Amino acid sequence: MNRALLELQEIDNSIAALTREKTALDDGTAARGARDTLEQAVAASVAQTQKTAVERSARELELKTAEEKIARQQSRLMSASSPHEITALQRDIEALTRARGDLDEAILNLMDEGETQTAQLAKFQSQLESAKTEVEAIETRFASETARLERELAAARERRGEAEAALSPAEREKFAAFAKKFGGIAVGKAVRDNCSACGAAILTFTRHEAKNQQFPTCEGCGRLIFIE
Ligand SMILES: [Zn+2]
Repeated sequence: MNRALLELQEIDNSIAALTREKTALDDGTAARGARDTLEQAVAASVAQTQKTAVERSARELELKTAEEKIARQQSRLMSASSPHEITALQRDIEALTRARGDLDEAILNLMDEGETQTAQLAKFQSQLESAKTEVEAIETRFASETARLERELAAARERRGEAEAALSPAEREKFAAFAKKFGGIAVGKAVRDNCSACGAAILTFTRHEAKNQQFPTCEGCGRLIFIE
């Protein structure tokens, strides 16, 4: 059997391996998904932090108004003379003081909430930065590995053309038919005493006959078998 058949097979094997490697490359889809999720988390966190700040400003304004009212009523109380007016002002001041206490508490809670949200936002932002760096690294690697594999594939295909041209028409036809039948692996070779494609032991008879046959085949898988 012509060694050129084995050489063509070896080129096909390397084309298949390069193609598998290319298919298995990480194009960054998962990393981009993680980055996009973090972008949404940052946006949601910014909105939440702003909402808390707006609410705190509103409460602080209410507190200022309550304090002004208290001061106003207290100065009225100083100059009040009728007991009815004094009682009314005292009640008003009590109610305003309770409202001020509630506002103080609400503002403290909003400050705590704001701090927690700001810390959470900083955490998401730092995670987002890492995720962006990761995406860039993966995309850069994907581009360079794709280019390398495409160069290697182009070179292998060129070698394949030459190897195929070196075969006789009968050999070319046989190779093509067997490659189609056996999922791209038309030819095995004897490695120690086994077929490289299926692992079956090569019979002494086959080994002997192979010397005289143009297309010897493996007893195990039926592929063409090259024996030194
Ligand atoms: Zn075999």
